[in-house]
Amino acid sequence: MTDVLTKDQRKLNMSRNRGKNTSPEILFRKKLCARGFRGYRIHTSLPGKPDIVFIRQKLAIFIDGCFWHKCPLHFKEPETRKDFWMNKINSNVERDKMVNGELEKIGYTVIRIWEHEIKQDSDKALERVASCLNK
Ligand SMILES: [Zn+2]
Repeated sequence: MTDVLTKDQRKLNMSRNRGKNTSPEILFRKKLCARGFRGYRIHTSLPGKPDIVFIRQKLAIFIDGCFWHKCPLHFKEPETRKDFWMNKINSNVERDKMVNGELEKIGYTVIRIWEHEIKQDSDKALERVASCLNK
């Protein structure tokens, strides 16, 4: 799964991430807490294993990586082993749709947040969640 980056890219990525050590998911969970939205679950057996789940309000949140889930703004086709990766990524996208459907069937609201939204405009993402939780 991780071999999509060349060694040099990986080194660059790691040096960039070092010291920060916060995945978009953890970052967003902190923001939720700061806004007073607690009591979510992170390891549930719901379809698609949502990243964050509010059981009582039946809200499932996914934080989707721009590369793995084919973000319309940032997705770039990999240069090596293109067929292999595109198969994988396209099946991720298909599965995302299926999972959304399964969750909705059991009465869940699904919110999908792009990784880049957490980095660039997390307040907006937070608002989307807030409006579901307050209804
Ligand atoms: Zn993106």
